[in-house]
Amino acid sequence: QPDAPTLDLSGVSSGYGSFPVLHNIDLKVEKGTIVALIGANGAGKSTLIKTVSGLVRTKGGKIVFNGQDCTSHSPDKMIRAGLGLVPEGRRLFGDMTLRENLEMGAYARSDKHAIAKDFERVLALFPELRDRLSTVASSFSGGQQQMVAIARALMGAPKLLLLDEPTIGLAPVVVERVANLIREISEMGVDILLIEQNAEVALTIADYGYVLENGKVVMENKADVLLDDPQVQTAYLGI
Ligand code: ATP
Repeated sequence: QPDAPTLDLSGVSSGYGSFPVLHNIDLKVEKGTIVALIGANGAGKSTLIKTVSGLVRTKGGKIVFNGQDCTSHSPDKMIRAGLGLVPEGRRLFGDMTLRENLEMGAYARSDKHAIAKDFERVLALFPELRDRLSTVASSFSGGQQQMVAIARALMGAPKLLLLDEPTIGLAPVVVERVANLIREISEMGVDILLIEQNAEVALTIADYGYVLENGKVVMENKADVLLDDPQVQTAYLGI
């Protein structure tokens, strides 16, 4: 029997107050995969990430994560269940040092030995950060702040990483670096749901993709199929 998906949304609807945003979303992240969610501004991508994270309440449907029904879990419960969130805009603790930011990422864990091991593993992934543990987060460049945000999420030892627009505002060479990192993290056994305005980057990294329009999934397929799809090319790839 094949492995159950790491994340399985069925018929999920949500919104803000009485304002509906997501309608009947079916979406899966299979084990060992990177899934991209693309869509225009306001399509509901961030709302989907917030809904999975427990920051926005579901109004219907079911969220199964890591074999557990997590439909109305709080954000804290989702993190304890193995979710890692890299929010839009990074949301670092700007006055804290890099080391403190990484320690915050492990707040829900108690095994000091495992945390120390992950600290070393994370620094090995980000050699450019190793010498800057005492630097205050707000003084890092945009690209470095993105890496700190990813590193902090990894300190929670997540099964699934949710990335909200990780390449936004970054120079092309830094975008490339972040893209390679996401692949490395996936190879380490962390599954990934990636939300991107930059559809080309997202579909190039991902195994599978979903297209969101007006809060609905309008297309889904293997990422390379979507990259070759004329409709996707016109609407999202500027071809
Ligand atoms: P973007 O790339 O601009 O973040 P998105 O695809 O992530 O776009 P969402 O941010 O999920 O889209 O927004 C979807 C809809 O929800 C939009 O109509 C937006 O105005 C609305 N919305 C987002 N956040 C809130 C909020 N806190 N309260 C009310 N409405 C909101």
